[in-house]
Amino acid sequence: MHVIPTAKTSSHLEVRKPRLWMPERVLFTPAALEESYGQKILERVESLNLPVEKLSRNRLTNLRGESDRETYNISKRTLAVVTAPPSSFKLSPIPPSADWQFHIAEGCPAHCQYCYLAGSLQGPPVIRVFANLPQILENLSAYLLPDKTTSFEVSCYTDPLGIEHLTGSLSECIRYFGTTENGHLRWVSKFDQVDELLDLPHNGHTRCRTSVNAAPVSSRFEGGTASVASRLQALRKLALPRTQGGGGYPVGLVIAPIMPIDNWTEHYTHLLDSMSEALDFECDLTFELISHRFTPGSKEVLQTWYPQSKLDMDEATRSVKRNKFGGTKYVYDADTMKKLRRFFEDEITKRFPQGRILYWT
Ligand code: SF4
Repeated sequence: MHVIPTAKTSSHLEVRKPRLWMPERVLFTPAALEESYGQKILERVESLNLPVEKLSRNRLTNLRGESDRETYNISKRTLAVVTAPPSSFKLSPIPPSADWQFHIAEGCPAHCQYCYLAGSLQGPPVIRVFANLPQILENLSAYLLPDKTTSFEVSCYTDPLGIEHLTGSLSECIRYFGTTENGHLRWVSKFDQVDELLDLPHNGHTRCRTSVNAAPVSSRFEGGTASVASRLQALRKLALPRTQGGGGYPVGLVIAPIMPIDNWTEHYTHLLDSMSEALDFECDLTFELISHRFTPGSKEVLQTWYPQSKLDMDEATRSVKRNKFGGTKYVYDADTMKKLRRFFEDEITKRFPQGRILYWT
């Protein structure tokens, strides 16, 4: 058992018990049940007394409700254990976060009204986890270079910690990267149940990150997640040295999506203060700073998922950014971006002289 010295927390951020998502339905395809890792997931969900349905075909059907909203509600309560298709074995780069991305699942049980997955994943937002995990990991070796660190991001299409109690897949990834010569894993989460990760043989090859935001953004727009205070305490546990009962991991803070809400300097100053309270010891720490943006596609999906949302997605107040494939993104104007960037870079450098800011976007 770990006895962890707890950092004092700011009174405006209360720590609650770990947030565990329990699906109302767990579907297994026949192909997933043929996989030995699929059987391990079956054991886990059965031990949690979750209702299991073994499908007769590999296709997921009957997930649509009578409206988009109902489809959303059904999907976000459903875990589907499937096999990753052969196409997913060809990895894509993911700058600026890592060299490559790979996926152990697609979909997330939380309800963030700005969700990054909107517009990226097709179909109902059911949470699909991949039973052919050993093959997914084995495939990574083809991307590892003998004489250079290669980094892999595993949280582009899911929150891997949010489903870890049901799958164990994140732990498997951490163990795998611990055995590689110079493969490095990166994951990020808005959940907080990290106790099972603390003793894993990670060999310093996994950077655990938590995604945080100012209290008004988090409380208004991040449904179904752990509180920011709990996420920070979880990161503290991961970062503390093993001799103090922690995980001894390299860690990171992802401040995202940054929004110039009313009194933003005051709210983000509170956040930065609670970050320094939680990490009041020396550790290997990075920062990633991501301002809010949306695309025409993500806006359309988010409006069907969260029709009452007060999230600002007014194109008229934004600047347009085009990528080389002709895609359009709406970002804040140059002056706002400059002010935000300067504030975060100055305040982080002041509080965390050892921390490294990896990028601002
Ligand atoms: S935690 Fe991330 S992936 Fe999950 S709903 Fe929120 S933004 Fe989307």
